[in-house]
Amino acid sequence: MSQLEPAIDRFPNKLGRIILLAMEEVLGKNDIQAVLSLAGLTHYIGSYPPNDLELSFEFGDLGKLQAALEGLYGPLAGMGSSLRIGRAAFKYGLREFGAELGLTDLAFRTLPLDQRLEAGLLSFAGILNRFSPERVRVEQTETHFIWLIHRCPVCWGREANQPVCHLAVGVLQEMLSWLSGGKHYIVVESLCAAAGDPSCTIVIARQPVE
Ligand SMILES: [Zn+2]
Repeated sequence: MSQLEPAIDRFPNKLGRIILLAMEEVLGKNDIQAVLSLAGLTHYIGSYPPNDLELSFEFGDLGKLQAALEGLYGPLAGMGSSLRIGRAAFKYGLREFGAELGLTDLAFRTLPLDQRLEAGLLSFAGILNRFSPERVRVEQTETHFIWLIHRCPVCWGREANQPVCHLAVGVLQEMLSWLSGGKHYIVVESLCAAAGDPSCTIVIARQPVE
């Protein structure tokens, strides 16, 4: 399957694998089995996708996993789990894509903090756009970075009254923490395709919480 083929609703296996490994780390072996069963994805129990870039992990499966987390734990605790899974997924992702991010050289590390965040977000968006059929765009205002996801895999196939892409919020929170040497930033999903909005929109404060 060509990576360039348009309009494919599937993730590279590697990204699906990263998310399932992060889920297992956060939930434990028993609960991830329960979530996979509830999501109707028992074929993934003990058998995660291979660590390659083939586009075979259905976006819809990611949406089903998010719905199953809420189903198993309730909306609030499900949201907390999704945030934690997102944070863990960034750490696994960094191991796989750290070289492509290109953010470890001295020139990057000596940038002022705000420029480091900007470079990091743009680089991360570039990686997602290169390896996955979702489309991410970063916009900026004086006070915020705005992370726009077109064809968002996290809420794929879901309908909700409010934004549900907590996993994506968790990934970004952990990335910002990593870029800033441990600072905490307010990250909020303001619009979500699951709630009928055209793109999932995640708003990131440029100033850390003091
Ligand atoms: Zn979404």
